[in-house]
Amino acid sequence: RPVVAVVGRPNVGKSTLVNRILGRREAVVQDVPGVTRDRVSYPVDWAGRQFTLVDTGGWDARVEGLALQVAEQAEVAVELADAVVFVVDGTVGATAVDEAVVKMLRRAGKPVVLVANKVDDARGEADATALWSLGLGQPFPVSALHGRGTGDMLDAVLEVLPEKTSLPSESSAVRRVALVGRPNVGKSSLLNALVGSERVVVNAVAGTTRDPVDEMVELGGRTWRVVDTAGIRRKHRSSVGADFYAGLRTQAAIERAEVAVVLVDASEVLSEQDVRVVQNAVDAGRAVVLAVNKWDLVDEERRRYLERELEIELVQVPWAPRVNLSAMTGRHLDRLVPAMDRALASWEHRVPTGRLNALVAEIVAGHPHPVRGGKQPRILYATQAGVRPPTFVLFTTGFLEAGYRRFVERRLREEFGFVGTPIEVTVRARE
Ligand code: GDP
Repeated sequence: RPVVAVVGRPNVGKSTLVNRILGRREAVVQDVPGVTRDRVSYPVDWAGRQFTLVDTGGWDARVEGLALQVAEQAEVAVELADAVVFVVDGTVGATAVDEAVVKMLRRAGKPVVLVANKVDDARGEADATALWSLGLGQPFPVSALHGRGTGDMLDAVLEVLPEKTSLPSESSAVRRVALVGRPNVGKSSLLNALVGSERVVVNAVAGTTRDPVDEMVELGGRTWRVVDTAGIRRKHRSSVGADFYAGLRTQAAIERAEVAVVLVDASEVLSEQDVRVVQNAVDAGRAVVLAVNKWDLVDEERRRYLERELEIELVQVPWAPRVNLSAMTGRHLDRLVPAMDRALASWEHRVPTGRLNALVAEIVAGHPHPVRGGKQPRILYATQAGVRPPTFVLFTTGFLEAGYRRFVERRLREEFGFVGTPIEVTVRARE
């Protein structure tokens, strides 16, 4: 799915606008100083098209150097996004900071939709026309708070979005892989090790003018597109919001990839951040490979602890293929490509309907749903609604409890070997 980033100064109403677009009813989230949100990207469906909306509003507005921060935020967003929604405060007009951002947006050449927010009435709409002077084309007056004008704005976003989505079609030969993990797990070391031993085919793919974002790398005799290598190679230039940007980049990279190689550091205790990256990949529905790096530092004792930790902390992905490797010594680097291949094959695997329903019959006969309140819901039949990742729909006579659904999911995995991919199981209950 294409990525749309929402950019603008603090307090212009970015989060309110994002909430409005997502149709969320919950209380409006302000640009709260110092708040780092876990989640910054959201799926949006508008007029039958889907895109990912990235909210860049999570940095600390109290810190000095506002202009610098906004510029950096815009820069990251522009690098990662297919299109930008640039929000200014329609009641204030364009400030010097806004104009600095505009310069950068124009230089980057990504499509921009200019939004004048806080335009609650027709009078404000007239004022908003002054924003033509920014040279970003037609300003769209909206009221994020009341919803006024947001439909027109979204139509405009769809118009500028590139036709082809960032995810290639199923037949594409070049796979997209993201190397993700918390800072210092060894992403750039791994990238260098992979690139060093093989060959970089093309060094610059559609980034900003200065940085290539992706690199085409030949691995295992085939070309792979490693997404956002600019983010991997570049160390934090400013400490302001570094974690936030790292999180933003991680999510965006996962969104753009087909398979996520999640790195963890074998020499350190697994952290909440590690778990979050794994969860991001699962939530995004991507194929997942677990790369346990710095294996050269693992002794017998550490190894025992590590196995326990992985088992306990990464319960979401017992199905992910795991490679114990060392970017430094080169140990087991050659196992990465087979693991990615395996995960991708599962990610795209389609189970014949006959086999699927043979399994359903076996489950219904051998492990029926427990009786609840005098009723016993039954699975009538199942169908695989999609791939990338595999998605199943169970047609039932009633609601299935969570434990039973997990059981069915486990049986699907056992039977069809979905190694390295999340699978989705939804239930349609007949009344
Ligand atoms: P990134 O922030 O995830 O890109 O991590 P880096 O690649 O910059 O690595 C962080 C630190 O870990 C550096 O000091 C690396 O030299 C070190 N490192 C990376 N991979 C390995 C490894 O396999 N073994 C050991 N011992 N150190 C490593």
